[in-house]
Amino acid sequence: MSSLPARRRELSVFLRNRQSGTYNLQYKMSRIRLLPETVASQVAAGEVVERPASVVKELIENSIDAGARKIDVIIRRGGISQVRVIDDGCGMDRDDALLSLERHATSKIRSAADLQAVATLGFRGEALPSIASVSRFRLTTREADAVAGTEIIVNGGKLETVRDGGEAPGTQVEVRSLFYNLPARRKFLRSENTESRNIEHQLHLQAIGHPQIGFSLLRDDRMLFQLPAAATLSDRIRDLYGVELLQRLVEITDTASPGIRLGGFIGQAGVSRQTRTQQLVFVNGRAIESSLITVGIREGYHTALMKGQYPITFLFLELDPAGVDVNVHPAKREVRFRDPNGVREAIVRCIQQTLEGGRARWQEKFRAPGGSPVVSGKAVPDLTLRPDIAAPEESHRELPHLTPRATDRVVAGANIAGVVDPGRGAKPEQAPSPASLKHDSHQQQFQIIGVLSKLYVLMENADGLVLVDQHAAHERVLFEELRRRMEEQGVPTQKLLLPQTFDVPPRDADWIERNLSVLQRMGIGIESFGPDTFKIDSVPSFLNVSDPVQFMRKVIDDLKSTGNSTSAMRLGEEMIATTVCRHAVKANDPLRYPEVEKLIRDLLDCDLPYCCPHGRPTMIQISLAELEKKFGRKI
Ligand code: ADP
Ligand code: MG
Repeated sequence: MSSLPARRRELSVFLRNRQSGTYNLQYKMSRIRLLPETVASQVAAGEVVERPASVVKELIENSIDAGARKIDVIIRRGGISQVRVIDDGCGMDRDDALLSLERHATSKIRSAADLQAVATLGFRGEALPSIASVSRFRLTTREADAVAGTEIIVNGGKLETVRDGGEAPGTQVEVRSLFYNLPARRKFLRSENTESRNIEHQLHLQAIGHPQIGFSLLRDDRMLFQLPAAATLSDRIRDLYGVELLQRLVEITDTASPGIRLGGFIGQAGVSRQTRTQQLVFVNGRAIESSLITVGIREGYHTALMKGQYPITFLFLELDPAGVDVNVHPAKREVRFRDPNGVREAIVRCIQQTLEGGRARWQEKFRAPGGSPVVSGKAVPDLTLRPDIAAPEESHRELPHLTPRATDRVVAGANIAGVVDPGRGAKPEQAPSPASLKHDSHQQQFQIIGVLSKLYVLMENADGLVLVDQHAAHERVLFEELRRRMEEQGVPTQKLLLPQTFDVPPRDADWIERNLSVLQRMGIGIESFGPDTFKIDSVPSFLNVSDPVQFMRKVIDDLKSTGNSTSAMRLGEEMIATTVCRHAVKANDPLRYPEVEKLIRDLLDCDLPYCCPHGRPTMIQISLAELEKKFGRKI
């Protein structure tokens, strides 16, 4: 230690005084004491180092900040017995290596002003000393052009050894026996398996956040993955999760919101997970957890997501570092946005547009199988029609339709022009002109093979076999038709014979007051009738409401639970979604061929054709490649 420069020596003397208590001399009688440095570090460690995965996170972040191109992680027994992170980054000289173990020593910020715009992953100068105070810690490091490197060993915060060492340029940190000196903490650790999985998740986050860096993870001598540096995010997703997942994602189309850029990939409508583990969100390259963003994502998906399911996202937000405060949480997991509403709205818009954009890709797939003649309803060979879909008039159930011309469409059957929806007037720029319809009719050819089990429509498209759930499909069609009406002229209402009044608790009353106009647009004739009392005199005519008061209470409960941040139109959508289900064609309802065909055409004309308003898929594609694999034609 004699070679330590003066700066270092001063620091050590200061610390020694502090630890021996001489620092407190002038306050002899005081009950308040400064904690010895090791204890202070252990206290801080409680916040930064929660579990082995936090060690891995902090060490990887340091490696990334050090400009590493490759990061190898080795863990044993869930990281409790050992975590080792090896990087090929810039390394440190001996002075810096020693200093890096002091609390609040960092090379990443210099002043409070720098805190306003942190561009690195680290900045608190807490991780290394915290980790070193609760483990057996070894750091070896070497700068690229240095003759020798440095090895430092610290046990439970006590500096044991400083000597020459360090092999390849870069830094290696080994953390053994985590929390060996804090038995209370150790008890809180979960099983080795769970801790390993947490570490794995952490590596996934970092690997997705930094595709240009190579990563590997060795768990108890077993290589879990080795990811080469990737050119693009999609390459990294493919390497980590496989090509099947990648195919179910859509690339985000940025909606150019002011001051924020969005990118990455999200699951197509109807693609979801039972847990949140694949909902990855990055703000300026940092993986974060944010309820604000979660709400935005959910609202963006809305009917494209099954209740209780979680979306898959690899969502990247880039904004001016000054617009985000990362100094909120010791583990830097949370951030605060200067303009939270702007961020949320940008996410909602971007997710909506991305999902609707993904529709073009689907429609493309519905072109007739390669080379076959244009197939229309009439041209479908009779052989492909099973008797039950050509059932006699009286045995079939007429598709409930909402527009008077819908029946014409059934008659028009083969003619795609029949799909022009009068309700589409709201978006005149999207209403296809007769010329473009002709074009569309080429684009949207498909061939119905038959109906399986009175529920699944079998179709052929360019990619292979498509199965459509006729009930889910009809739900989606009805849903979008009702929504269009609501947007245009409001929902048609039906007057009640006797208007009814009802009381609600004050908080509900407040909610109703605030949302009166929304409720009215949804076809509910409701007005204030004294404090906490309301009068209802009409209900949406497409509903079969027997007890209007009961209905109102249910609507309020349902809608309140969708959250305050939900926009007005979304509330209406929610109500429609919960009601269309009852009106849609039930499974087992036999449909005649033209009806099936109309249903499919209407479905393909929807904004989000591939899932019902509850987020369940409407169609499943089984590709020719999959069939070939199953039949052993291809390995
Ligand atoms: P912070 O990352 O917040 O600055 P740390 O305690 O994690 O605080 O690290 C302290 C300092 O040690 C960093 O600022 C950096 O200069 C240096 N350091 C840590 N890890 C590495 C590494 N793997 N390669 C190079 N330098 C490192
Ligand atoms: Mg750090």
